[in-house]
Amino acid sequence: MTDVRNPATGEVVASVEAASLGEVDAAISRAAAAYERWRGVAPGDRARLLRRFAAVVDAHLEELARLEVRNSGHTIGNARWEAGNVRDVLDYYAGAPERLTGRQIPVPGGLDVTFHEPLGVVGVIVPWNFPMPIAAWGFAPALAAGNTVVLKPAELTPLTALRLAELAREAGLPEDVFTVLPGAGSVVGERFVTHPAVRKICFTGSTEVGTRIMAGCAAQVKRVTLELGGKSANLVFADADLERAAASAPYAVFDNAGQDCCARSRILVQRPVYDRFLELLEPAVRALRVEDPARESAEMGPLISAGQRDRVTGYVDGARVAFTGSCPPGPGWWYPPTVLLADAPTDRHWREEIFGPVVSVLPFDDEADAVRLANDTEYGLSGSVWTRDVGRAVRVVRAVESGNLSVNSHSSVRYWTPFGGMKRSGLGRELGPDALHAFTDVKNVFIATES
Ligand code: NAD
Repeated sequence: MTDVRNPATGEVVASVEAASLGEVDAAISRAAAAYERWRGVAPGDRARLLRRFAAVVDAHLEELARLEVRNSGHTIGNARWEAGNVRDVLDYYAGAPERLTGRQIPVPGGLDVTFHEPLGVVGVIVPWNFPMPIAAWGFAPALAAGNTVVLKPAELTPLTALRLAELAREAGLPEDVFTVLPGAGSVVGERFVTHPAVRKICFTGSTEVGTRIMAGCAAQVKRVTLELGGKSANLVFADADLERAAASAPYAVFDNAGQDCCARSRILVQRPVYDRFLELLEPAVRALRVEDPARESAEMGPLISAGQRDRVTGYVDGARVAFTGSCPPGPGWWYPPTVLLADAPTDRHWREEIFGPVVSVLPFDDEADAVRLANDTEYGLSGSVWTRDVGRAVRVVRAVESGNLSVNSHSSVRYWTPFGGMKRSGLGRELGPDALHAFTDVKNVFIATES
């Protein structure tokens, strides 16, 4: 049994049994058997079951949100959004089974058609930072396309995934179509990679583990989608609405206590407005409400664990701190929002993903300099551009090597638009109209018409 703790208090909220290798193998075998039945369920019926699953999630929204607050320390406002996102993603992909159309391609001598065939059992591996949405981004399209799913939540945050599996059964999804297997990455996760009946891995987590998973999948030419780390840039040009750029910047990085792969954790400010931007940023950071995440007014909660807090502290120690916000004294794994001044783009806190409420600020000279600094990273997940010049906005978003960019906004994730990273931030895209095809293989069939 593994204790699951409330990050805001350190108290044990549940004990969860980790799946053994034997249990994982047995679950994968059952999922493989269930696949033969699930893929044969008529598209309209599969759609109806997914819509019902969405409705049951909706009916339990508050319960799921409160469970996430206790398990992950997310603010109640965020946790409600996350549970709502699961519902919406299910609803969105419930539209897919009846629209999963192939093509008819003109050929001589017959009829040529394509089918989008499901793959079989899909293994979804989830990190601890957004346990509910990231699970749904994998399981909803996978199920809609006719696959069965085995899902491993992160060791620290298994509770909402386990509850979602119960809700799926309550909604009428057949047994073994969607199975949640809590446990260690080195046991459950690795078995997903090595088990030949698992035909695809949908992984979200660190670039380090993702790289290993990709190598493991190569041995079986197993399909893989990777959503990995980030070190995204927030580019503020001198002609921007500085008040809005400064007021919104804290939310773009400190949301979820900075434990967000899309966190805009590098702020680049054009030199003439650098001092003014920092003047405006300081009160916005100090005003951020870091408090008991169950309070309606909370804007930021604690870090996920003591280990994560140590990691974050290690980046700040010895760095140049411009100013910080505040946080409760504890118990729990609290850390204040912190703004660091980078001396050079070689600084460790400028280059590495900290995954905590820490942002680094650096000035730039001109557009070319901004793009060069933004791209000077192994990552390419997200980013923002603040300018009133439309032409510049378009030039810069085209030049920045990132999968998800926003102009005069920090939006990253909408379930109906594609999401994913360039470079070492990932491989493939989730969400949006095309994600479904990542859970299918195209089959081409030629039928001779000439006798
Ligand atoms: P992690 O890589 O340590 O773990 C992620 C998951 O992989 C966990 O469930 C873990 O148990 C499992 N795992 C660990 N070792 C494994 C192995 N050898 N084989 C199979 N599975 C294994 O990541 P984390 O610390 O939980 O999450 C934080 C990271 O996730 C950050 O780098 C963050 O940027 C990234 N992330 C990316 C996205 C995105 O969409 N790009 C979204 C959220 C988080």
